[in-house]
Amino acid sequence: MTYKTLKDFDLNGKTVLLRADLNVPVQDGKVTDTTRIDRVKPTIDYLRTQNCKVIILSHYGRPKGQENAEFSLSFLPPVLRDQWGVLVGFGTDSTEDIKLLENLRFNAGEEANDLEYAKTLASLGDIFVNDAFSAAHRAHASTQKITELMPSCAGLSMEAELIALTNALEAPKKPVVAIVGGAKISTKLSVLNNLVKKVDYLVLGGGMANTFLFAKGAPVGLSLCEKDMKEECLSIEQKAKDAGCEIILPVDRIAILEFKANADHEVIGIDTIADDQESVDIGPETIKNIEGILEQAKTVLWNGPMGVFEMKPFDNGTNALAKKVATLTKSGSLLSVAGGGDTVSALDNAGAVEDFSYISTAGGAFLEWIEGKELPGVIALQNAKAKAA
Ligand code: ADP
Ligand code: MG
Repeated sequence: MTYKTLKDFDLNGKTVLLRADLNVPVQDGKVTDTTRIDRVKPTIDYLRTQNCKVIILSHYGRPKGQENAEFSLSFLPPVLRDQWGVLVGFGTDSTEDIKLLENLRFNAGEEANDLEYAKTLASLGDIFVNDAFSAAHRAHASTQKITELMPSCAGLSMEAELIALTNALEAPKKPVVAIVGGAKISTKLSVLNNLVKKVDYLVLGGGMANTFLFAKGAPVGLSLCEKDMKEECLSIEQKAKDAGCEIILPVDRIAILEFKANADHEVIGIDTIADDQESVDIGPETIKNIEGILEQAKTVLWNGPMGVFEMKPFDNGTNALAKKVATLTKSGSLLSVAGGGDTVSALDNAGAVEDFSYISTAGGAFLEWIEGKELPGVIALQNAKAKAA
């Protein structure tokens, strides 16, 4: 994959239009998680060393093309100042070297990928830098159209994400293991269908493993299971076989009667489960199995927790595997990439986030990537290079 990066341009004294994803979670007027802000800091720091003026472009929420005070970004400059250690103005009239523009989605042209709106944005700067991987699955004026109008490149955070995802899925060191869990197989059919073509082992856990076990004739009791997905499971198994990918299913599981934290639980096999029991985590033999596979692996890609990690102790399977991946990554034998909303919380809960090679917080864009879809914002950067060269 080729695209221009910050180092390809002489940025000295230029005005940079920086697309960031500052669509941060807010509760009672306070930003509850600054990850997205923090990820843009390296690019901000770099642009400052180049004496750039920076105009930051972002969306926030879904104002649907209309001005709406509820979705104004005006609250954010002080937070950016605190996180980045630099003054940030609001709007084009402010005097600071770094300015944040109002929510792009106040203008209907943004989501419509409108040329005239993109021209208005482009007229504000000399070069476009996209540092918003998490918005790259949208073809919008500030992620796609604008790249047709001015020199464009990836920011440092975008570049890091693209390198990590490429190393995990497009050009990985083998054997490659994908760990996929979470609640429902129906939300991850495209993920599974793409991964079986690309990885050596597909480890399944969480609710979707119940559905696979059910498809193979195992009883599931009251476990979360999408019985109407049986054919899809069998078809994924066939595709895996054809592609030389081994699907690894649980060989034991943790069963409970009452769905609550610290519920009485027992380890049961795959062949039996009481009608009123439900499976909420993978069992110890399964954990041992998967640990053995991870020890041989060079690359692991992870999406979806192995159990109901929100209720202790049913985070045990997820935690054990997260710790194993973290240890192997630290020792240098494994490249590990994980992503997904609940996956990030689950790995955080396991205390493993710092030790993975890369954790994607991109949500939808990350999932579309592992579904094998092309992301318009990324394609736009690749095309921009072709044109400028
Ligand atoms: P992500 O957001 O990372 O893509 P998902 O949304 O697919 O992950 O799945 C997360 C949810 O899956 C969690 O809320 C978790 O409780 C649930 N889950 C995992 N295992 C089970 C299980 N065995 N039974 C029911 N729910 C499960
Ligand atoms: Mg989720």
